[in-house]
Amino acid sequence: MARYTGPVCKLCRREGVKLFLKGEKCYTDKCPVTRRPYPPGQHGQGRRKLSEYGIQLREKQKARRTYGVLEGQFRRYLEWASKRPGVTGEMLLRYLERRLDNVVYRLGLASSRAEARQLVRHGHFEVNGRRVDIPSYLVKVGDEIRVRESSRAKARFKEMANTPARNVPGWLEAHPETLSGRVVRWPNRDEIDAPVQEQLIIEFYSR
Ligand code: SF4
Repeated sequence: MARYTGPVCKLCRREGVKLFLKGEKCYTDKCPVTRRPYPPGQHGQGRRKLSEYGIQLREKQKARRTYGVLEGQFRRYLEWASKRPGVTGEMLLRYLERRLDNVVYRLGLASSRAEARQLVRHGHFEVNGRRVDIPSYLVKVGDEIRVRESSRAKARFKEMANTPARNVPGWLEAHPETLSGRVVRWPNRDEIDAPVQEQLIIEFYSR
C-alpha cells in the first residue's frame, strides 16, 4: 500500500484527537480538531457507535498515523515486539519511538514526524558520525544523532538552532546549539505521548 499523501488534518479529525502531524499549526487555534471536533465527510456529524472491532481498528490506525508507518512495517514491529520479554504493547511503542524520524522530531530537529522523515531521507543526519538516510533506522542507547556539517548552514536548521525544543522526553538528551542529541536510555511508557491504548492494538491483531 502506498503512503497516504492526502490532507493530514482529516486523519486527526477521523481519530478525534490531535496526532500532531502538521508541525507548528498543531499548536495554534487554527487546528481543525479544535475548530471542527467531528469526523470529516458528509456524515461526520451523525451519530456513530463503534463495535468492539471498530474501536480496536481505530486505535491501530491512530498509532500507524501518528508515526506515519505503513501496515506491513507496523506488523513487523508487532512481530518483533511479541518476541521480546516484557509487555508486547509497550515493546511495540518502543520500536515506533526508536525510529530515526521520530527521534529527530522528538529532539526538536524537525517540526513534525513527516518533516523529520523528509530531512532524514534527504541525507541531512548522521548517527555516530555516519550518514543515515533511512527514516525507519532504529536507534540504540548511546547513539549520537546530529545534523551533518554540510547541512548546518541551511536556513531551516539555523532556525531550529534558535528554537527551543518542545517537550524533549527524558530518554533523549537534546543539544539544540549543536543541532544534535543523544539516546540516554530506552523510553518508559509514560514518556511516550502517542494517544493510543496499545492493549487494544494487540487485541486487534489477536483476532
Ligand atoms: Fe492538523 Fe495538527 Fe490539528 Fe492534527 S493536530 S488536525 S495535523 S493541525
